[in-house]
Amino acid sequence: MRDETLCLHAGYAPKNGEPRVVPIVQSTTYVYDSSADIADVFDDPTKGLIYSRFENPTVMAVEGKIAALEGGVAAMCTSSGQMASLISILNICQKGDSFISASQIYGGTTNLFAATLKKMGIECIFVDADCDEAALNAAFKPNTKAVFGETIANPALTVLNFDLFAKAAHAHGVPLIVDNTFATPVLCKPIQFGADIVIHSTSKYMDGHAVQVGGVIVDSGKFNWDNGKFPGLSEPDETYHGIIYTKTYGAAAFITKARMQIMRDFGAYPSGNSGFLLNLGIETLSIRMERYCENALKVAHYFEKCPEIGQVIYPGLESDKYYPRVKKYMEGKGSGVISIILKGGKEAARIFMDSLKLASKEVHVADIRTCVLHPASTTHRQLSDEQLVAAGVDPALVRFSVGLEHVDDIIADIEQALKQL
Ligand SMILES: *Cc1c(COP(=O)(O)O)cnc(C)c1O
Repeated sequence: MRDETLCLHAGYAPKNGEPRVVPIVQSTTYVYDSSADIADVFDDPTKGLIYSRFENPTVMAVEGKIAALEGGVAAMCTSSGQMASLISILNICQKGDSFISASQIYGGTTNLFAATLKKMGIECIFVDADCDEAALNAAFKPNTKAVFGETIANPALTVLNFDLFAKAAHAHGVPLIVDNTFATPVLCKPIQFGADIVIHSTSKYMDGHAVQVGGVIVDSGKFNWDNGKFPGLSEPDETYHGIIYTKTYGAAAFITKARMQIMRDFGAYPSGNSGFLLNLGIETLSIRMERYCENALKVAHYFEKCPEIGQVIYPGLESDKYYPRVKKYMEGKGSGVISIILKGGKEAARIFMDSLKLASKEVHVADIRTCVLHPASTTHRQLSDEQLVAAGVDPALVRFSVGLEHVDDIIADIEQALKQL
């Protein structure tokens, strides 16, 4: 089935007389007839539900939907996008390991990878998203366990070179993990281009309505974990009665370990209510993405004509450096986020932003409403000047997330704000 249909139907198939809409199961626990029945479920968690710290039927319905949209074997939701990034790494890296990441990634992920994981003894080796094959290969060490990148980077708007990153990862026997938040599976299906694990901050386009923070991890089921580099997956887990994930769960080894070990221990699982809201958002994802792209392209063309603006960065523009990749991996559609760099520098960026009336000034992106943010003074304020440059963030850069208002109203708002400069 196509995306429009999957968005509405995948993950939940009511039987005779059951609710049409996926019901909200708001329950901590699941009841059984006997301790023997509970023991059975502990032995094989696919037989039933145990506890809502790591599973819930409403959330599992939306996990099935996202797995179908991404073309993966299974998915697991998390309480935030940050948690999805963290678990995707912790599931395969431990103290003494390293992994490689494109340096053009979300600022929160940079902090997590460069500072917090470092304290836990896991090293992140950053490479430029546009590095060549030799530079990427040179970053690998014997202890490297993964390669990470964002389909469309937030906020640098670089587009991942899937061919290169997947090839290098696989040549070194490690998975490619892709954060597909900005593209969504509607514009790009990273698994088709070699990604092994796909993650999202569902707080963005998937939820779409700015009602709840969340994340998801999708397992492609394609990576061979049994190559000697991943004993956590291919050797017995003593905390889980000696189970060998690759043996018992095959293609779903990664996601089962993520749920039954990491999520069990960390407990960052969404509630049934959150799962319901996320599902509601995704029902219209495909149709919303179409309009985000259409509106953003018109707004990007308008920005190009404004003398106050030095640079318009939007991967959906044919003149954009990344357009060839957008054509190759995203059917030519650039999603809804535009970065502009004002000629007047940081102060002009501030005045422009503060003068907008329709666009919300908020720490968010990919909302249904147009919203705007100045990363250098907000989301990326923790980063040093060098890190800002590495992350592709100019001090005068304003991130403009085009919403679903009528595009003429969005442009009229920009026009009046630019007049204030
Ligand atoms: C927002 C975002 C995250 C973090 O997600 P939260 O849901 O805010 O924790 C990760 N990656 C990208 C690309 C994002 O835009």
